[in-house]
Amino acid sequence: MPYCPECRYEYEAEIQVCPDCGAKLVAELPEETVPEIQWVPLHPLPGSIYAEMVKEVLDRENIPNLLIKDFFASAAGVAGVGLPGMVGLLLVPKQQVRKAERILHDMLDHI
Ligand SMILES: [Zn+2]
Repeated sequence: MPYCPECRYEYEAEIQVCPDCGAKLVAELPEETVPEIQWVPLHPLPGSIYAEMVKEVLDRENIPNLLIKDFFASAAGVAGVGLPGMVGLLLVPKQQVRKAERILHDMLDHI
């Protein structure tokens, strides 16, 4: 099975380029040296209450996360998301961002 060297996801045999990041897939992942976590932000949440709710679920799912409370959307480099002012921002490791986003989406459906 091919893997994306960037996202470290495994894909179906016929896929050659990562649909996520466009990297060329490799047959085997290189041995992970010092696992350096690359934190990426999830979609900003309208306030730290929501962000803490999501954090709880991520914790339960064993997804490492960093919560940045009451952050200015513009300062987070997430301008244009339609959330002016303070947001809660959750960072997750790049490898787990897709899983985390799926959880986040499910949750936002119910808020
Ligand atoms: Zn990728």
